[in-house]
Amino acid sequence: MTSFSTLHLRGVGRRFGKHDALADLDLEIGKGEFIALLGPSGCGKSTALNCLAGLLPLTAGSIWQDDTRIDVLPPEKRGFGMVFQNYALFPHLSVRRNVAFGLRMRRVSKPELNRRTDEAIRLVRLEEHAHKLPGQLSGGQQQRVAIARAIVLEPSLVLMDEPLSNLDAKLRLEMRTEIRRLHQSLGLTTVYVTHDQEEALSLADRLVVLRDGRVQQIGTPEQLHTRPANWHVADFMGYRNLLPCTAGARSGEAVAVEGDGLRLLASPVGDLPEGAAAVAAVRPEDVTVTEGSPAGPNRIEATVEVVEYQGRELAVEARTAGGTRLHIRTGRRLAPGDEVVLDIAVERLLAFAQQYTARAGEPADTAGRPVLAGQETA
Ligand code: ATP
Repeated sequence: MTSFSTLHLRGVGRRFGKHDALADLDLEIGKGEFIALLGPSGCGKSTALNCLAGLLPLTAGSIWQDDTRIDVLPPEKRGFGMVFQNYALFPHLSVRRNVAFGLRMRRVSKPELNRRTDEAIRLVRLEEHAHKLPGQLSGGQQQRVAIARAIVLEPSLVLMDEPLSNLDAKLRLEMRTEIRRLHQSLGLTTVYVTHDQEEALSLADRLVVLRDGRVQQIGTPEQLHTRPANWHVADFMGYRNLLPCTAGARSGEAVAVEGDGLRLLASPVGDLPEGAAAVAAVRPEDVTVTEGSPAGPNRIEATVEVVEYQGRELAVEARTAGGTRLHIRTGRRLAPGDEVVLDIAVERLLAFAQQYTARAGEPADTAGRPVLAGQETA
């Protein structure tokens, strides 16, 4: 399959029995784009990737490469490269032979095979290891071989399924940079599956956030970071403080919210009628510990309970008189038992409609409201 200018997923769905693992996925991917599919375990990320790869037939919708319908083609006719979490290398073949394998299958001429194999090995910086067997390499090096094996075929699309999840934290960071560098130098269109929001934010041009097989939001890292579409996305984007509350009256751009003894002013996202069950969301780094200066409209008194040292900053957990636990990041040296006055800028406190009924098996309080992260024992 030759190169394309857009890849279009139209209403793509995959059902297992009565269960929609993926539903109504609409996505247009431009040439050279790096797309991350992000979401918690079981949200349908791998299903989406496998549908794209042709490893799993669709049960709804279609996939188009420009004007050609490709979801009807077998995987080998799509010309996509795949990189998996478990590397899937041939253990008895050298690095070089692993990388060259696909070219050999395609009966590429010897000089071209040599040239392309050398180039791919150079790109992933494995020149010195080319004659080793996979078993003699570290996890990161093995993943480089897997990447070289995919890019050597000059695929029109590279699909990566949690390629870094078997690596330790330091290697993960290194390989992340490596993947970004390769993407920038080769301009390969990439779809990358991960449950790690940091990885997705740092790598992707656009993110697709999935939950229960449905798209929650598609946007640039900045859009998702500053303006998550609902509280599930916010939760995933590091808004660790999710406070169940009730929406009150609007005043200008802001909306009053109230819950567990707190009365706050927040920035509403989407439709939030007065009286609606809501969730107010804020990141730990946007909860400030006031130092003598008068707090704004969102003054909160709390007692420090847990302090965790994290380099230049502390991760602090404080509890209000009403029992709300707040996660804070601060440069101030606080200690358990300290009384603090907190403040949150109105534009950093987002208010979403709760629009949520706890599903079977999910924790809910006596009123049937979901129990939100960080509030389990509140
Ligand atoms: P993870 O990060 O854990 O791999 P995921 O987001 O990739 O999760 P999928 O593997 O796409 O999730 O699975 C989505 C849903 O579809 C899950 O509820 C899963 O149990 C279900 N599912 C996936 N494959 C099958 C299958 N072959 N048969 C039945 N159900 C399946």
